[in-house]
Amino acid sequence: MGGPEPKIDLNDDQLLRYSRHILLPEIGIEGQQKLLAARALVIGAGGLGSPVSLYLAASGVGRITLCDHDKVDLTNLQRQIAHDTTTIGQPKVESARAALARINPEAQVVPVQERVEGARLEALVEAADVVIDATDNFATRHAINRACVKHRRPLVSGAGVRFDGQVSVFDLRQDSSPCYHCLFPEEGDLEEMRCAVMGVFAPLVGIIGSVQAAEALKLLMGVGETLTGRLLLLDALSMHWRSVKLKRDPACKVCGAR
Ligand SMILES: [Zn+2]
Repeated sequence: MGGPEPKIDLNDDQLLRYSRHILLPEIGIEGQQKLLAARALVIGAGGLGSPVSLYLAASGVGRITLCDHDKVDLTNLQRQIAHDTTTIGQPKVESARAALARINPEAQVVPVQERVEGARLEALVEAADVVIDATDNFATRHAINRACVKHRRPLVSGAGVRFDGQVSVFDLRQDSSPCYHCLFPEEGDLEEMRCAVMGVFAPLVGIIGSVQAAEALKLLMGVGETLTGRLLLLDALSMHWRSVKLKRDPACKVCGAR
């Protein structure tokens, strides 16, 4: 990750606010200090990005850069829990920033109201300690993956449509980790399934987004075992989880020559 971590001394309010984290021996003061010094990039402020950013802010992640070009629409509110009826018509990043500030005024939220791509995307990825893909289309997912491979940043990837969700981690700091392209080659004829057409069960994106938040926090603190090398698949209709082992594709066009 980017450089030495500055040690941030916790004040009395912070010791209280984060006390239930600090009580966990796996986290403690040291883990909480790492979160306070951490920089997360969340791309997408919709169904997945809402729970991701709410949990990262509540947990005390120091800086959250939140990207989304879109505005809040009435059809979003069934599942995009960072937004509410009063913010319809506002940019999603501004609506979410206000929601995060109400939970934790300490969280520094950087709103980026753009469809990030190209050099802009690369610079944002390079400046982050962890990248969370909370978008809903394959082109953007592949662009984020390429930037994470290039700059060796851990990528937490999630998706949900209808009652089906999936989530994984590509820890591209490790040579052995597969990348998103190893799993879903761009040239594959995967059907694009967007919420707008297919529908989505409201809590599905809450469940998947919460798993993404958990994995991001663990990556930032360096605790536990992440989903690197595993893809979790959820059928929320039967509430069955499946875990599939992932291997790096040596012929992958994105990470193969790494
Ligand atoms: Zn790959």
